[in-house]
Parts: sequence; structure tokens; C-alpha cells
Amino acid sequence: LRPEAQLPPLAERRKSRQIMVGSVPVGGDAPVSVQSMTTTVTADVNATLQQIAELTASGCQIVRVAVPSTDDVEALPAIARKSPIPVIADIHFQPRYVFAAIDAGCAAVRVNPGNIKKFDDKVGEIAKEASNAGIPIRIGVNAGSLDRRLLEKYGRATPEALVESALWECSLFEEHGFRDIKISVKHNDPVVMIAAYRLLAQRCDYPLHLGVTEAGPAFQGTVKSAAAFGALLSEGIGDTIRVSLSAPPVEEVKVGTQILEALALRERGLDIVSCPSCGRAQVDVHTLAEKVSAALEGFPAALRVAVMGCVVNGPGEAREADLGVASGNGKGQIFVKGEVIKTVPESQIVETLVEEAMRIAEERGEL
Ligand code: SF4
Repeated sequence: LRPEAQLPPLAERRKSRQIMVGSVPVGGDAPVSVQSMTTTVTADVNATLQQIAELTASGCQIVRVAVPSTDDVEALPAIARKSPIPVIADIHFQPRYVFAAIDAGCAAVRVNPGNIKKFDDKVGEIAKEASNAGIPIRIGVNAGSLDRRLLEKYGRATPEALVESALWECSLFEEHGFRDIKISVKHNDPVVMIAAYRLLAQRCDYPLHLGVTEAGPAFQGTVKSAAAFGALLSEGIGDTIRVSLSAPPVEEVKVGTQILEALALRERGLDIVSCPSCGRAQVDVHTLAEKVSAALEGFPAALRVAVMGCVVNGPGEAREADLGVASGNGKGQIFVKGEVIKTVPESQIVETLVEEAMRIAEERGEL
């Protein structure tokens, strides 16, 4: 059994309707998926497809592209056709862009019908077209763009305001019999965001797209997203996630994937277990852990690798690891499942760990 298979489940998953975003099921008993959004100008088809390829290689399962102009609309057919993963068109106000995105073969559209209704009541037509094409819609409520009516009612973007807004948007589609919907209620404060999703989870059975909006630069955004997603996913709430970082989108996917692996909601890949170092350390543990992590990045098998600072406690502390190193006196003791199998000079630690990792994965038939 893989280590994550032996862990107690965090919580029963909230029962949600399942929708299909292209080939990716979202909700129900489908695994929680990771998505991101391109940062290129969508009209630049090559640059956008290049970024989608990078996102796909890093594990992204669904990608969203912004569609603010007619040039972007015109690029959608080529992007939707050539993208290896489902493409969601992100549209704000223009109903005709929604129809064009559906015709272009996009897997879903993110649009708030409340915005459409204000300009031109085309909600029924969108519901019909999306339904005929089998395309779901994401209703995305953000604290920053909350309806004025709800801002006046609640004074600010409270969890109740976000949820009321989302359910009102849903009702505009439901009036036309359309329920192929997923919802997000994003806020930049994880505490408000958690409360909003908890409330929303009680009030409907739509699948939920989790996100902390404008979470910040990589470090801060990672912590905020991990804290918020961890709280919700550990309660069984959440069907697809997007980590928002002021950083390249590939980083969002890496963080999202790591969050799911940490919660054992996804099979764990490479897991580096490194000690924090202390006064007993006989090597620069931080640098060594970074080097081992970099050398094994993208390793194709599930492996837990320990990097420990001393030979006194290292192997014992890391007995659960598949493989590891404990350093001392200019050397590295390489151990497998807590047993020392060889000792190598410090300069050869990283390459020896990579060799041993390959050997273990080959023995398991995982290479
Ligand atoms: Fe300290 Fe050794 Fe434990 Fe690392 S493995 S924290 S160096 S005692």
C-alpha cells in the first residue's frame, strides 16, 4: 500500500452534482482537479498555447483564458482545438462573446449572468446554447466585484453577501432550467473565504471551485491558499482548485498539486522529508535539501526521500522514508527504510541518492 492509502480519510466528501469540463469530471466522486489561468494575451495564439503546454506538463488539468476583446474571441477556436486540456473562456459582460466561446469549442465558460442581464437579457439564450453544446458555466463571485445591491445590504463582502450573490446568479440560469453550473465565492481573506464556502456548501449541491482571490506573491499566496483549501478540503468541501499567485501560473499548479498531495487527496509523488537542522547538524541541511529536491524534481515514481543533518538521529527519525541520507564528518550515510546501505563522500550524496531512487523505482516496476 502507498503511504497515503494507509491514512485515515479526512472527512466524507460533500455530495455535489457532477459536471464535465471537457473530459474532466468536476464534483460528485471525481478527484479534486487543479486548474490555472494563462497570463498571455489570449489573442496571441502561439504564446497562449505554449503556456498551456507548460501548464499541462506541470499537471494542470483545466485552463482558463481571459477573453476581454474581439481579437481574443477570434483566437478561441484555435486554442480550444489545439489545447491538450479543457479550455474555459473567462467572459465578463459581452453575451456575444459567450456564444462565440461555445461555438469555438471551449469546454466551459465563466460568466456571471447578473452582468449579462444588466445589459441585455440574453441569459435564457445562453442557457439554451450551453445546454445544447453540453457546456457548463462557472459562476464566479469575487469580493471585489460584488453586486452594488448586496454591498448596500451587507455593508461589505461578507460570506452571506458572497453566497447570496452566487445563488442569485444561479437562479437566473435555473429559471431557464439550466443547472450545469459550478460556483466560486472568492475573497482575499482566507477566513472570509472559508466561511463563504462553508455556507455555500450547505445551501446548494453545485460543485465548488475553490480560490483565494488576489492571494498575493508566491510565498504569501501559497500559505493563504494552503490554509484555506486545507480547512475546506479537510471538511470534504471543494471539487476543483485554483491557487492565485502573483507569479508564473506554473507555480500555481505546483502549489495546488502539493496541497492535494499533502492532504492525500492525490497520490503523492516525490516527497522530500528533510529535518529542520539543529546544533547537531554536520552539513548545511537547507542547501542539501534544495539540491536533492532539484535533482529529483519530476521524478516519475512516488518516493519519500529523507535529508537528515546528523547520523545520530537521522536514519531513525526518517525510518518511514524509502530512501535518505544522514550527514556527518564530511560523509553521507545513505539509508533505505532506516537501514544504512552505504557511506559516500559529501560531494557524492546527491548523485548517489538519484541512483538509489532509480534503483528502487525500477525494482518496484515504476520506471
Ligand atoms: Fe538535528 Fe540531526 Fe534531527 Fe537534523 S536529524 S534535526 S541535525 S538531530
